[in-house]
Amino acid sequence: MSLQDAEFQWPSGYRAAASFTFDVDAESCALAEDPATADRMSLMGHQSYGPRVGVPRLLRILRRQGVRATFFVPGMTADTYPDMVRSIVDEGHEIAHHGYMHERMQGLDAATEASILDRGIESLQRLTGRLPTGYRAPWWEMNWHTPELLAERGFRYDSSLLDDDVPYRLQPDAVGARSLIEIPVDWALDDWEQYAFFPGWTGSGVIESPMKALEMWSLEATARHAENGCFVLTNHPFLSGRPAKAYALERLIEQVAQLDGMWIAPLEDIAAHAETVCTTGRTHRRPGVQFV
Ligand SMILES: [Zn+2]
Repeated sequence: MSLQDAEFQWPSGYRAAASFTFDVDAESCALAEDPATADRMSLMGHQSYGPRVGVPRLLRILRRQGVRATFFVPGMTADTYPDMVRSIVDEGHEIAHHGYMHERMQGLDAATEASILDRGIESLQRLTGRLPTGYRAPWWEMNWHTPELLAERGFRYDSSLLDDDVPYRLQPDAVGARSLIEIPVDWALDDWEQYAFFPGWTGSGVIESPMKALEMWSLEATARHAENGCFVLTNHPFLSGRPAKAYALERLIEQVAQLDGMWIAPLEDIAAHAETVCTTGRTHRRPGVQFV
């Protein structure tokens, strides 16, 4: 196992990077867990708030702040809300892959996972006219075979692993396979942990104050900036698209933009830069644990 590489080199004039990412799960993440949730009108409405109300509000905020972002869209969301996806594209943001129906990937064999990936690609390509370059596994759950499936399909980056503070080149465990860039995430930088609650479905019952989330994420951004790192925030429009949470998010964007030399960019731009500076690949191996 190699130790951390030397300091990551950001583009000239920048010392760190930040990316605001939005996972437009909508109904898919509930339906994939339990198809019977389709019978729950209020729960389905709570989820559809994301594409119908949250995304338009978030797009207004991003436009006001002059920020381009990355939206991870499950294929089912794209098929259900094509105009919403077009509105994201029209604003110049990136659309990336997030499963078809937000399937839990852990334990799936490679062939099954590949068919889900292909179905999601088809939905996004049909709508945007281009292949997605980025992938984020639903629930950030990668299998050991996933990087190779992504590289085979021409994905240029993944953003699902939690093993670094800066991007790196992920080399699938196969001789001659293509590599891709990994842009790591962090559960502390996910609004799900702060805000997700629906009775009988998810959450602890605590919906945190947006001021607490703002304080926490602001400190994360400041610390990552000081360390020449990469701040990747994950928001869900059915959560952070709601008024006070969106208000706090806009204040956060303002604070992050004030950090000297902070490059705010969609993940595809960060990946394109990382491709130029991450020359050696990193291969992960499943721990060879023997149970007795
Ligand atoms: Zn998701």
